[in-house]
This record gives sequence, C-alpha cells and structure tokens, in this order.
Amino acid sequence: MPVPESLTCVLCGAAYREGADQYSCPECGELGTLRVSYDYDRIKASASRDGLAALPFRDHWRYLPLLPLAGVGSEFPLAVGATPLYPVPGLRRALGLERLWVKDDTANPSASLKDRASSVVLLKGQELGRTEFAAASTGNAGASLACLSAALGLPCHIFVPESAPRAKVAQLLIFGADVLSIRGSYSEAFSLCVEASDRFRWYNRNTGYNPYTVEGKKTVALEIAEQLGWEPPDTVIVATGDGCILSGVWKGFTDLHRLGWISRLPRLVAAQAEGSQSIKQAFDGDGTIRPVNEDTLADSISVSLPRNGVMALQDLRASGGSAVSVSDGEILEAMPLLGRTTGLFGEPAAAAAAAVLVKLVDQGEVSSTERIVVVSTGHGLKDVDAALRAVDPPEPLECSIEAVRARIGIR
Ligand SMILES: *Cc1c(COP(=O)(O)O)cnc(C)c1O
Ligand SMILES: [Zn+2]
Repeated sequence: MPVPESLTCVLCGAAYREGADQYSCPECGELGTLRVSYDYDRIKASASRDGLAALPFRDHWRYLPLLPLAGVGSEFPLAVGATPLYPVPGLRRALGLERLWVKDDTANPSASLKDRASSVVLLKGQELGRTEFAAASTGNAGASLACLSAALGLPCHIFVPESAPRAKVAQLLIFGADVLSIRGSYSEAFSLCVEASDRFRWYNRNTGYNPYTVEGKKTVALEIAEQLGWEPPDTVIVATGDGCILSGVWKGFTDLHRLGWISRLPRLVAAQAEGSQSIKQAFDGDGTIRPVNEDTLADSISVSLPRNGVMALQDLRASGGSAVSVSDGEILEAMPLLGRTTGLFGEPAAAAAAAVLVKLVDQGEVSSTERIVVVSTGHGLKDVDAALRAVDPPEPLECSIEAVRARIGIR
C-alpha cells in the first residue's frame, strides 16, 4: 500500500511530505493545490492487471495499491465505486456514434461521484489521527461526506450555501450531519469551512483543497480503463466546476500509463456551463484562472473561482483536450435526451457533459468511430425542480376509458 512519495504544488513546484495539517502549499495558499505522487516501481512490484482481474468488481478498494492509504481497515460499510459502464445503444443511434459509453456514477451510495473522494478522505483523515470531518459543498460533496460519515459512525460538519437544492439538503439532514447553511455563495462557504476546520481541528474534505479528493476521484478512470479491457477511450467528457473530477480522471489514466498498464492516454473535454466557465476562459485565453459571476441551474458545476482550476488547466493541456461550454437551455435539452435514449437520469451537471457531446457531434468535432466516454456524475432525483423545467407536465385526464381513447388517438 503506497505512502505518497511527495505532494507537489501546482503553482511553485515545491515538494512536501505528507502531514496531518498540510492541505495546500503554505507558500501559495489555497490555490496552490498539491499533486500526489508515488514510487511507481514499488507499486509495480506489488500489483498487476492479472492480480486485479482475480478480485471481484464490488467496490473501488480493489485499487488500494494505487491509493494513498495504509489499508481499508475493517470492511467499508457501503459499496463505493464499481459503477456500470453502459454501451447505451439508443444514444449511439440518436447521435450516430458507434463507440460511446456512459459511466454511471449515480450508482454510488449518495448518488454522485463524490463518494469516491469522500471515502478516501475519511480513511486518510482517520489514519492521520482525525476524528471529526468537514466540507463545504454546493450539495453533492456534502451529501457524500454526510452519507459515508454516517455509515462509519463519524461526526461531520457541512457548509452549504443557502441556495443548495432541497434534495441535497434533505440528504445532509437525513444522514445526521451538522448542517451549516451559509448566507453566502459556495466560495464564501468554502473559505469559512477552511477557517473553521483549522480552528476546531476538523479534517477538511473541501474539493481540490484536500489533495486526496483527486486521488479518490481517480478511481473512476481506473474503472473505465479496466472495463474497456485496458484499451482507454479516445475522449472522456467530464462535467467541470472546481476541476477536481477532471484532474482525478487524468490522474487515474496517467497513473496507469506510468505503470505500463495502458499504452496511451485519452484527451479530456471539460464540460462547463456558460454561466460558470472560468476554466474554459483560462484555457482559451491567457491561462489565468479568474473568478466569474456564476449563474447556472447546474448547481454542481456552479463555481465562481475553481478551487482546482490550476491543476485542471494543466491536465487539460497535457491531455491535448479542450473546454466546451453549454447554455442552461442546452443542458435542459440533454437531460431528457439522455433519459429517453438510455434510461439514465442525470442531474443538470451530468446532463451538461451529455450536452457537450451533442454539441461536439453537431459541430463535427468527433468522428463516428471515436471511442467516447461520458461520465454521469450525479443523479437527476437530486434536483427535481430543474428536471421538471426540462419537460412538459401532462394535462390531467377524466378518469375514463373514453378519455384514454381520445388521448391516445384511438376511436
Ligand atoms: C462536483 C460535481 C461535478 C464537478 O466536479 P468538480 O470537481 O467540481 O469539477 C460535476 N457533476 C456533479 C454531479 C458533481 O457533484
Ligand atoms: Zn506553492
């Protein structure tokens, strides 16, 4: 089980050793997020693709040799990861694509990809001697930490903006988290949570800020590679707010590449909302991440200043990828398209990735034989109000067979 060899600042390049109070670079502050690296020769000596194949596909702890943890201790109480990669024939037909898959990460315990990061952070925090946890969240990271903390019997404190969708707040309360509903934006809640964590010695799971969030999220890429028989996709489309999932996906593929388990790397496409496209603006412009006035119904990717923006930008470049943004209208069209053609119900952020795929197809920027994976990051039931804006409610009918006949057009 690897101990991280070093944690390297994305801004100044300084390398640090792991420590309980170390999240970001002390020189560069909160935006100096840290890249975790390992002794890959040691991992190679203890793990292999064949060794993995012998393990059941039950949760993401099968990748423990690639995670920054000493172990998983007693059986982890909920099944995180090991989510399906669906070939989605209906969506392939609708878009004229031959090799498209949807990675359905809504199948995680709290119904979003965030469980991958929360589970790793909870175990890491305990290894570092911490007993209380905290996170700031637009909704899902908090719901996830609350869910898995409840399963492990650990206390947690969740900072959410007042405007968080009701279903996500319901999750927090049902899981028994200490919910701090903040009169302010996600960014403000984020900074307050960092300060409170320092003050009260809570282990902080904030997205990007805690370097192990990227390490946890990378298991989605490890699974995609393994599910495709170690033949990585050409293109992976990732809904992007803070940019932590994007970097996690890249870290997963690059770890596998360094181990020699895959022979090439995919290009990544960052799917952003037009109303929250700081990473796209930096990518297309001068490379500087600047805050935007976030305004999109896709709450999970609604971010003013992306907390993992610098790393995400570096990773997007390294992958030869691109950043594409879509309007709320395009997101609302993609949601029922995904639903009708696949039976999968993604929340607006997840639908944003599908909307970007639609846009790339319309603009002729993907070929029909390209191997593409869209990650569905969060479940549609988490934000029913948004979903209902995407569809027309049915007219109530008289309760009679005549009314049904008239309705379906049979006389
Ligand atoms: C958090 C989240 C995202 C965006 O992830 P970042 O790491 O902030 O870029 C996308 N979709 C869903 C459903 C999420 O919960
Ligand atoms: Zn630094």
